Formats: sequence, C-alpha cells, structure tokens
Amino acid sequence: MNTKELDAKYIAHTYGRFPLEIVSGKGSLVYDETGKEYIDLGTGIAVNTFGVSDDEWVAAVTAQLGKLQHMSNLYYTEPCARLAQLLCEKSGMKKIFFGNSGAEANEGIIKAARKYAAEKKGPEWYTIITLKNSFHGRTLTTLAATGQDKFHQLFNPLTPGFESAAANDLEGIKKLALEKKAAGILIECVQGEGGVIALDADFVKGIEAFCREQDIAFMVDEVQTGNGRSGQYYAYQTFGVLPDAVSTAKGLGGGLPIGAVMLGEKLQDVLGPGDHGSTFGGNPAVCAGAVNILSRIDEKLLEGVRKKSAYIFGALEGAKGIESVSGLGLMIGIKTAKPAGEVVKACMEKGVLCITAKDKVRLLPALNIPDELLKKAVDVIKEVCA
Ligand SMILES: *Cc1c(COP(=O)(O)O)cnc(C)c1O
Repeated sequence: MNTKELDAKYIAHTYGRFPLEIVSGKGSLVYDETGKEYIDLGTGIAVNTFGVSDDEWVAAVTAQLGKLQHMSNLYYTEPCARLAQLLCEKSGMKKIFFGNSGAEANEGIIKAARKYAAEKKGPEWYTIITLKNSFHGRTLTTLAATGQDKFHQLFNPLTPGFESAAANDLEGIKKLALEKKAAGILIECVQGEGGVIALDADFVKGIEAFCREQDIAFMVDEVQTGNGRSGQYYAYQTFGVLPDAVSTAKGLGGGLPIGAVMLGEKLQDVLGPGDHGSTFGGNPAVCAGAVNILSRIDEKLLEGVRKKSAYIFGALEGAKGIESVSGLGLMIGIKTAKPAGEVVKACMEKGVLCITAKDKVRLLPALNIPDELLKKAVDVIKEVCA
C-alpha cells in the first residue's frame, strides 16, 4: 500500500487532507511525491519558522541529539535553561514552564491563574473568560476555553468554569468577569483560527487595565502569533501591554513539538513543587533547536517580517477578486470573492501552498522567506483570485 492507502486504512479520519504527500523541502520550497515544487506559505501552520530543514536549526538539534536526547525533569539540562532565559528576555515574562503543545501551554496558564485566584480571593474565583470566535486548543479544557460552539458539540460535558464574551466590547467583558468571579481573562491579540482578525488596541489595553485594577490574571495566547510572527517578538508588544501570563508553542520549536507557559511578575511563583509537570517538557533536543530559532529572532529579522507583511498587504489590498486583507506581520487572512477553498486548490495546482482560516485564505510564510519567492507566490494568488 502507498502512503495514501495506508492513511485511509490506518489513520483516524480527523483531518481533511489535501491530495498531496509532501516528502522533502528546503527553506520555503517543498516537494511532493512526484517531485513537483511548491512555495510553502503555510509552514506547517506557523511552525516552520525558518522553513523546512533549515541548516542552522538542523545542526543545533543534531548536535544535541549526539550528546543527550532526553533525561527527564528530575535533572538539570542546559538547553531548556538557556531557552527559558531567551524567552524571558524577549517577552518580559519572569518564569517559564515547558510542555509539548499549544493546548498544554494554555492549560498551564489556566492552572496558574486559578491557583493565584484561589489563594488570593477564594476558591469560588475560578472562571476563565475568553472571547467568542477564539481558538485555544483541542483538549477538553481548552475546548471549553474555545468560544466556538461547533468544536463543542458531542464532547460535552467540557471542563466547567469557562465563559465567552464578545470581542471588542470592553464593558461587556468587564461585567461578565465580575459577575462570574473571574480568575483570568484569556485572549488572542489576533484571532488566528477565527479568521486572522486583530482585536482593537483599545479593547486589549482596556482589559489589561481592568485586570490590574481587579487583580484578575490577564493572559494572552501567543501560540500562533508568538515568536516573531506578528512583527514583534510577541503580538502583545504591538498593542503596548504586558500580560500576567502568556502561552506559546507552534513556531517556537521551528518544527519540533514544544509549548511554553510564560509567567509574568505577578504569577511567577504561583506554581510550586508538584503543582505541574511533563515527561517530555523541556526536552534537550527540542530546546536546543528552539534556542537556535529564538536567538535568530532579533530586531533585524522583525523589521524584515514587517517589510514582507507590508509588501503582501500592498500587493493584495484592492486587487481584483480580493475583498479585504487582515492580520498582523506574517499572519495574514484574505477575504476572496471566490470561495477560499477553491482559491487554495487553484494555488496548489500552480505550485503555491496556502491554507484557510474560516472563510479566508490564510498565509503564514516562513519569517525569512526570500523576497523573490514571496513575490512569485503573491503573483500566483492575485492571478487565481482575479
Ligand atoms: C494552534 C493553536 C492552539 C493549539 O495548539 P496545539 O499545539 O495544536 O495544541 C492554541 N491556541 C492558538 C491560538 C492556536 O493557534
């Protein structure tokens, strides 16, 4: 049996896959089983920060694999300590806990917020307020946090203690938070899966101020927006706020699974011995790769991200068959006159891989995609949309 036949027979059918088997790649180019070349604007959903099989990252991971691949968190290992330092320096957070995915990172910040509130105000202050149209993961708790009913059906009961508020309605979210005795408010600065929609800056700033005033944990999900994708190290820096807790994952590992619970000043010491743990969390090989990725995300790279972003907006806004362009940095949603699925399919045929987010075409290119490849891909998108 070939790969597609094996998949049909042995893999649970949770994914609607494109009819492509990707076998290899280099940077922003990938190749299918027939050898056809594609410009990849999806990066494994914002994971391959510097594209596929990036030389420096491969060297960092393989050097570590030759020394020590895993040991458990019962011992100190250097790569995770170095990575925690880099994350704190770039984010303004104070302490890091490592897990393996975005959902787990969100579970971690939720646990931190609940424990802080239980100790400070009492155990009835447990509710986590999230936003409608959000996405926070697929575990039963992060599904409860996800403010989209279509993900909930047939999996009830979900973890209790979650409420969702309308985005950009500051008075509404404040009222709900007090009424429900909120431990924390959790937002994505740019709703990724929800259609690449940035929140209003005043709303984000208003939540920060309200959380400070009420001693409620202000939490930002940077699983997709983080690690340079937004054009800043973390998207909240664009909005001029500093959360009490941040989750990140996707692009942090450059292609290997990692999630980070990042705790700010207020929550930094709330999780103590025995409160949380992970077998694989802080894995030395994954962390050595992530150290390489994060150390290359600097002011110069971020400026490049913002320039590439401006180029995409400039080229697509107002183009024939394109109704609007949204997002931040290299996280872009395109509302097309043709159905998004059709556009993605036609782009694929012409050698460009994009994905969708709700009814939009979504672009998440590598942060270092060469300008000429980006231009070639954008020209294909324009041609397909027209
Ligand atoms: C992808 C994503 C998650 C879930 O991450 P996993 O690694 O798939 O668990 C959570 N939040 C946001 C904003 C995401 O984009």
